[in-house]
Amino acid sequence: MLTISVEQRRKIAVLGSTGSIGRQTLDIVAEYPHLFEVDLLVANRSADLLIEQAMRFKPRNVVIASGDLYDKVAQALDGTSIAVHTGDSVVSELVAQPEVDTVVTAMVGYSGLASTIAAIKAGKKIALANKETLVVAGELINELLKNSDSVLYPVDSEHGAFYQCLVGEDMNNVSKLILTASGGPFRTMPREQLATVTKDDALRHPNWAMGAKITIDSATMMNKGFEMIEAKWLYGISQDNIEIVVHPQSIVHSMVEFVDGSVKAQLGLPDMHLPIRYALGLPGRLATDERRMTVADYASLTFEQPDFEKFPLLGTAYEAARRGGNVPCVMNAANEIAVAAFLADKIGFNDIYNTIEKTMAWAPFIASPTHDDYIATNAEARRYAENLI
Ligand code: MG
Repeated sequence: MLTISVEQRRKIAVLGSTGSIGRQTLDIVAEYPHLFEVDLLVANRSADLLIEQAMRFKPRNVVIASGDLYDKVAQALDGTSIAVHTGDSVVSELVAQPEVDTVVTAMVGYSGLASTIAAIKAGKKIALANKETLVVAGELINELLKNSDSVLYPVDSEHGAFYQCLVGEDMNNVSKLILTASGGPFRTMPREQLATVTKDDALRHPNWAMGAKITIDSATMMNKGFEMIEAKWLYGISQDNIEIVVHPQSIVHSMVEFVDGSVKAQLGLPDMHLPIRYALGLPGRLATDERRMTVADYASLTFEQPDFEKFPLLGTAYEAARRGGNVPCVMNAANEIAVAAFLADKIGFNDIYNTIEKTMAWAPFIASPTHDDYIATNAEARRYAENLI
């Protein structure tokens, strides 16, 4: 078990503190007040919750990204020692400050990229919850990591599982990563019915309570495609050696197959507090009194092949990973626009796939994008996808 003196408490920056992962990260911070304190909280628009979190955790800095809410937050925290900021660019400055030890990147989508790059350049420990960062710019991120003291610990439950299975192993002995998927709310639904499913149907995830964007990504299985690309960059393994398997109980969080035919799996309850606790505890483990998994409660764990025809975005993700360059960035941008449109009742469920395919077919290819190329690709692909809708 980790023991740390008060002076050495790890100072955490939580980007996206009012979202699902952000809130659960703060639960973990509160569970181990002798180990962690909050240095920075960043929220997009949830001003009331940000104020509440700031009053409770007393960070040095908070950022409310939306400028129109700045006055509200500043007034509420007036008279405290907490500095209030607004805008996106200030986040990159604040995460790089020497006081910050660990940056939890839990913001939604592409918006996580710039601040993650800033944190890597500043040598911070990163608990990566924003998988889109690696989907969009995995090659660039790995390049930056090579020249930095920064380390990336995955918060995603599947990638935390890979990490745990790989502790003490040589990557040369890995033959395959087996990425488990719950299959989402439409796993057993006939393919023809997907055209008419509603936003409410798609938001009803069977196992995991998550934010709206990732829940739709789970319903289309785009999320699993993203996670395949995330695993490719985290563990330096080809997409051809990453297999997706549907496991409806979400108890086996993923598996690793080795060259001798042995397979290791990591199991646990489907509760994001577990992978967050693991990522924040590394290189040790944090003991907890929270609910345990009773193995006997799970008399049957089942596995099945994913349906690439019903969930064509799985194939799209493999294609994007194979083509590389800025293609995954295009895919992600079109997905963000399409999911937002679906959540606003502007397009149907199958139009999410159609929007992404058309945008990918249109977008100019860049083989080795720079950060500026990603910024431009993201903006152009979003505009193209908007016009389609
Ligand atoms: Mg996951």
